Amino acid sequence: MTHTSSSSPDVVVAGGGVIGVSVAYHLAEAGLAVTLLEASRIGGLATSASSGGILVSTKTRPSSIEAATRAQRRLAELDRELHGALEYDPCGCLVIATSEAELGILQGRVSAHRLLGVAVALIGQDEVRHGWPIVGPSVVGAAHYPNDGQLDAIALVKALASRAAAFGAVYHEDSPVIGINVRKGRIDGVVTLHGTLRTGVVVDAAGIAAADVARMVGVSLDVRAQRGQVLALRSPKALSPGRITEIRSIIGKDSGETIDRQVSYAYRPARAEVWLGGANEIAEIADSTTDGISAIRSRAAEVLPGLAHLEQARAWAGLRPFSPGGPIVGWVGGPTGFLVATAHGGDGIALALDTGEQITRLIHADRPRAQWGLGGQNA
Ligand SMILES: Cc1cc2nc3c(=O)[nH]c(=O)nc-3n(C[C@H](O)[C@H](O)[C@H](O)COP(=O)(O)OP(=O)(O)OC[C@H]3O[C@@H](n4cnc5c(N)ncnc54)[C@H](O)[C@@H]3O)c2cc1C
Repeated sequence: MTHTSSSSPDVVVAGGGVIGVSVAYHLAEAGLAVTLLEASRIGGLATSASSGGILVSTKTRPSSIEAATRAQRRLAELDRELHGALEYDPCGCLVIATSEAELGILQGRVSAHRLLGVAVALIGQDEVRHGWPIVGPSVVGAAHYPNDGQLDAIALVKALASRAAAFGAVYHEDSPVIGINVRKGRIDGVVTLHGTLRTGVVVDAAGIAAADVARMVGVSLDVRAQRGQVLALRSPKALSPGRITEIRSIIGKDSGETIDRQVSYAYRPARAEVWLGGANEIAEIADSTTDGISAIRSRAAEVLPGLAHLEQARAWAGLRPFSPGGPIVGWVGGPTGFLVATAHGGDGIALALDTGEQITRLIHADRPRAQWGLGGQNA
């Protein structure tokens, strides 16, 4: 995907994962001239590895809960407009606990979620076995989030990229940002393999490489690569009424602590596959490992024994951009005009729309346009 060029855009977005593309879409919709530079393929890294959950159940920060709730509504609406191209499915999500200690943590989260208006029901062990027959006796209790959903993350990126282009955004694949020019403390341009683009604003949405891009302007970011692995099993039908995840995975997701034994379930009807997710270790390679896939299988045998008969179709892994303090979105120091949008960990698909809006507010609405030298298409 390469769209026509503009040599002096208002904003250059570095990175064309779901975050960069959403930022480009929202900025272009607001009337700014945007160029997105992608080192490889739009949506080709963490975004394409994801299982597309649009989940409130896995969120802890009130701002993320609110953002994911809004994303559920907006993405269902966008899917209707696109005649189902996003495969948005409000399937719900069951969060399971396998010990009394985990159940206590889950109950605490449910109370906190209810205070924030999230729809959630606590489910006892018998009710879980009755409604979710693949779940085994090691599960002592659960919470059901009926409004959680999922979609095809690659379809989402394509849809946002095409809407961004319709608003005039320009994007180039195979175009890594290799340098950023700064003049008198302000962003002055972006260096690519093909030349320099003059611009006053750069949004660093380079995922696990966001720290490398930030270093180009002397900014230090703590962004790590957290590997997730997925095992796809052939199944002509769904074996659960919706997604299933473990409370221990959520604890690991929030803390960054590696949780060796964890599994999550999602069904993808378009592919006739059950996707089992697991792993959250810090790693440098985005390949699935034999150990990682066996750990998913063995944990599934314990908590989801009803899947034991399914055959493996394929396996893959991806590197989530992760930071111990959560997503990094906005001004982080460095030259005027430098912003960051990264480190969404396991939540980037769900939080992409909100991040695009936040960055647009920061650049377009909350600051005097003259401060950034913005002209913009509608200025
Ligand atoms: C197995 C797995 C399951 C997941 N499941 C879910 C889920 O159910 N729900 C959810 O919300 N999230 C999920 N996630 C997390 C989600 O996929 C990520 O948070 C999200 O994709 C991050 O998007 P991004 O745009 O920041 O990064 P990426 O998609 O990695 O995009 C960053 C882009 O920047 C480009 N880039 C790098 N350096 C440069 C440079 N110098 N110049 C230009 N471009 C550059 C890269 O090529 C890349 O395309 C999952 C992740 C994994 C791995």
